[in-house]
Amino acid sequence: MSLFSSQKYSKLSINNDRKMVIPDGSWIKCKHCGQTLYADRLEDNNLVCWYCGYHMAMTASQRIKLITDENSFKEIDANLTSVDTLKFFDSKSYVDRLAENTKKSGSKDAIICGTATLDGKKFALGVMDFRFMGASMGSVVGEKITRLVELAVEEKIPVLLVTASGGARMQEGILSLMQMPKTCGALERLAEAKLGYFVLMTNPTYGGVTASFASIGDVIMAEPGAMIGFAGPRVIQETTNSKLPEGFQTAEFLLEKGLVDRVVERKNFRKEFSLLLDFFKK
Ligand SMILES: [Zn+2]
Repeated sequence: MSLFSSQKYSKLSINNDRKMVIPDGSWIKCKHCGQTLYADRLEDNNLVCWYCGYHMAMTASQRIKLITDENSFKEIDANLTSVDTLKFFDSKSYVDRLAENTKKSGSKDAIICGTATLDGKKFALGVMDFRFMGASMGSVVGEKITRLVELAVEEKIPVLLVTASGGARMQEGILSLMQMPKTCGALERLAEAKLGYFVLMTNPTYGGVTASFASIGDVIMAEPGAMIGFAGPRVIQETTNSKLPEGFQTAEFLLEKGLVDRVVERKNFRKEFSLLLDFFKK
């Protein structure tokens, strides 16, 4: 994704009348079908491969831009940071890992929260960013979601959470697991206030996130081909010693089984979500 950072773009003149901006290494190979894609056109196509429809990962800020009215997003709690209560150390310390990921993603933890409008309709929005420690859920992710939902109850607006996660953040041990009931408790109050709660699951959504707030939306949407589950397919296959069905844990498979209500192509999300906001307002 570093291809999309502006510093890497160099100007190149094509034809006499047309200037094009071409990034260094401007061709990207689709991970799914292997076709070569022109980076600029890929960005215009919302990072979706036009040969096979594969939906590539987006950063939280790209996602926010895509699904909200221009300049309507107002971030909250941007400065919440995790505390290394357990003095956790694997190959490096948790404190160093947090600093490294903050530098890499430009964000202090794995979710960006705030309020925004779409077609003028206000809602609370939280978007997880997989670049930050695989968007694992620690106490900051849980706390930010909880505060966002509490704000939504106060302002009487619906909530949309865009998920992507490897699961609970092991560096925070039990504190990360406690975020599962905490977020669900806050969402229960949102339900009592009869405010809509929507989820968009993106690739990949796993572990404690699937097992808590991601699976209890009033409407659960998913992007095409997104992998969604609790444990990964390899772990399940090895544990159960059985062959898994084709398409196991894909958004389409889960739509058929009833966990997902709708698979929504990225280009259609604004329109569909705007309709949902209208419908639930009634
Ligand atoms: Zn492709």
